[in-house]
Amino acid sequence: MGDHMIYSRTGKIDEDFYVLGHPAVPIYLMDGLQPIIFDAGFTILGEHYISEIEKILGSRSPAYCCITHVHFDHCGSIAALKRRYPRMLIAASEKAVEILKRPNAVDLIRHLNASAEPLVKQLGISYTSEARFEPFFIDHRVKEGDRLEISSDCHVEVFETPGHTWDCLSYRISKRNILLSSEAAGQPDKTGYVVTDCLADFNHYLASLLRFKTLEADLLCPGHIYVYKGRDVTDYLAKAEIACFDFHKTVLQIAAEENGDFDCIKQRIKRFEYDPNPGPKQPEPAYLLNLEARIRAILNTGRNTLNGYDHQA
Ligand SMILES: [Zn+2]
Repeated sequence: MGDHMIYSRTGKIDEDFYVLGHPAVPIYLMDGLQPIIFDAGFTILGEHYISEIEKILGSRSPAYCCITHVHFDHCGSIAALKRRYPRMLIAASEKAVEILKRPNAVDLIRHLNASAEPLVKQLGISYTSEARFEPFFIDHRVKEGDRLEISSDCHVEVFETPGHTWDCLSYRISKRNILLSSEAAGQPDKTGYVVTDCLADFNHYLASLLRFKTLEADLLCPGHIYVYKGRDVTDYLAKAEIACFDFHKTVLQIAAEENGDFDCIKQRIKRFEYDPNPGPKQPEPAYLLNLEARIRAILNTGRNTLNGYDHQA
């Protein structure tokens, strides 16, 4: 114990475990007999991710690419990765498969990936891929309790952790107790603020957050910017939980003050949450779209459940 750390860099983070690409839009790699990569970032970074994977794996291929959820910044370069590694299986939830059947969902993923180009330039990442997202096929549907083998003594365990989105899966690498939650555990920014990313449903989001605490991970990857280790995992999750209650209260308060005027509520939240964030941060169109969903999730939860939080699973 006493071993704790907050990483915001690429490269080797733990035994056989790597953050690749850029800390703001990373993919993760767990090496082993059957290496596994997690998530697929922006479309425009496809070739960049591939060259970084090659540096670690050489001519070997990952066995799986495990997708946490099909948001544009987590599945953007799957088509490119699949072209480079045709034997690699793309794993995601049944709900992700359903989402990808909707043409408007695919259009949105494409549109948001195109809007990410200025951010990538601003981050100073060199890229050679086009920003045009290509649809992909999910080869392997995974669900709660499923296991994928990395080596004889190491496997990945699948958890269904909805709330951020309905298709959200979290993955735990057994041997090192590494938890890849994506934004199901909220999204920290560089000011110390944690975005309560309850796009799909507030109560499910909170339940997933509380579940992460029980897993006592040694390394937590919330999907962007930071990776937490040891005591910093506990501290971050405690902070994310407080942020969750605060955000709920604030949204209801602002909604009451603005008589439910949706645009005013949105602008007021953006002013304290997005505007002071020095970045790296998601492109404004993606932020605003997500903010609308987060406000709706809270207004839909209703005031009458406000006192019922501690009864959540
Ligand atoms: Zn997301």
